[in-house]
Amino acid sequence: MTTIPYSRQTITEDDIAAVTEVLRSDFLTQGAEVPRFEAAFAERHGVAHAVAVTNATEALHLACLAFGIGPGSRVWTTPNSFLASANCALYCGAEVDFVDIDPLTRNLSVDALRAKLHQAELDGSLPQLLIPVDFAGLPCDLREMRRLADRYGFRILEDASHATGASYLGQPVAAAWSDATVFSFHAVKVITTAEGGMVTTQDAALAERLRLLRSHGVVRDPSALSAPPEGPWVYEQQLLGRNARMTELQAALGRSQLGRLATMQAARVALADRYDHLLADLPLFLPARLPDRSSAWHLYAVEIDLAQVGRTRAQVFSAMREAGIGVNVHYIPIHTQPYYQGLGFRVGDFPAAERYYAGAISLPLFPAMSEAQQHHVATTLAAALGAAAPARRVA
Ligand SMILES: *Cc1c(COP(=O)(O)O)cnc(C)c1O
Repeated sequence: MTTIPYSRQTITEDDIAAVTEVLRSDFLTQGAEVPRFEAAFAERHGVAHAVAVTNATEALHLACLAFGIGPGSRVWTTPNSFLASANCALYCGAEVDFVDIDPLTRNLSVDALRAKLHQAELDGSLPQLLIPVDFAGLPCDLREMRRLADRYGFRILEDASHATGASYLGQPVAAAWSDATVFSFHAVKVITTAEGGMVTTQDAALAERLRLLRSHGVVRDPSALSAPPEGPWVYEQQLLGRNARMTELQAALGRSQLGRLATMQAARVALADRYDHLLADLPLFLPARLPDRSSAWHLYAVEIDLAQVGRTRAQVFSAMREAGIGVNVHYIPIHTQPYYQGLGFRVGDFPAAERYYAGAISLPLFPAMSEAQQHHVATTLAAALGAAAPARRVA
């Protein structure tokens, strides 16, 4: 029996050649490839600045630091995300809270946000930073969030780890509405550098601070030093930075992958469209389609209609795995993790995220997936749900 992974990177001979060329060159790190990847990424996304780092977790952390988040700051995010969306604020000593999701989009709910902001204003506990997540690749309601940010005076750090290649109101996702946006290039994500992350922003000063924080807070440019240097060896540490530099090998791979983003994206869209057709009659809630935005389709996450199906999610999940289908679950609500319960959060705090999680299953989706594999997934899922097998339809 062949197994179908839930995600798989796409690596071509061009990718291999790009990395090999760097290996034969003089610079494995701190050469010209990272700036080239950053420039290409910024251009592709129509944004002024892109700063590449080791991974998206570090990108989120550095962006929080660059916004001045620290002890006493309040940061709000969604419970339906990977841990890093919330942990980044804890790394800075800030306080984290969550805003429940919209069950349709599974993204942070603007209505819940509005209500929570109203209450926080009365209590004098408004947040400094909001970290919305484009879950599965579907952009959040950034325009409404921007309005609220301008009214209540917080910044927006968009976690677009799933959303490379997505678009919102006719523009690529990348800091058109946010103050900064983070992307992940982990191997399972839309494009990969094995591990890697990027921050995009329109704010030149913020980009400069991110570059400093990425590399020990050290300045070498003579014009940026606090005093005339004694000699050309002089560098100054101006901030408490870290080493979060992306390597030249990763950047070369990233730029090569970025060149294929459009074709890989088209493959994901075709797969998502076909899933929509194949699964239309099953007792499932399928991913939302909205006219003003297009998903990057990092994930195809379905929610089992548990009121219709006489089986548990665990039974359905096991049946899929036993058939060699690499299903997954995104996400266990962050506030229910033991660590977060230790901070005072409780099961029941964010019911929409918990309800979604109870029936959630992510199906395999990757550009090289075949139609036969998809049909196998749909047929196996129908059997696991105790429903009739889907007819093979041409999408
Ligand atoms: C993958 C992911 C991250 C972390 O990305 P890394 O590059 O693995 O550090 C952060 N947020 C979300 C929503 C993710 O899916």
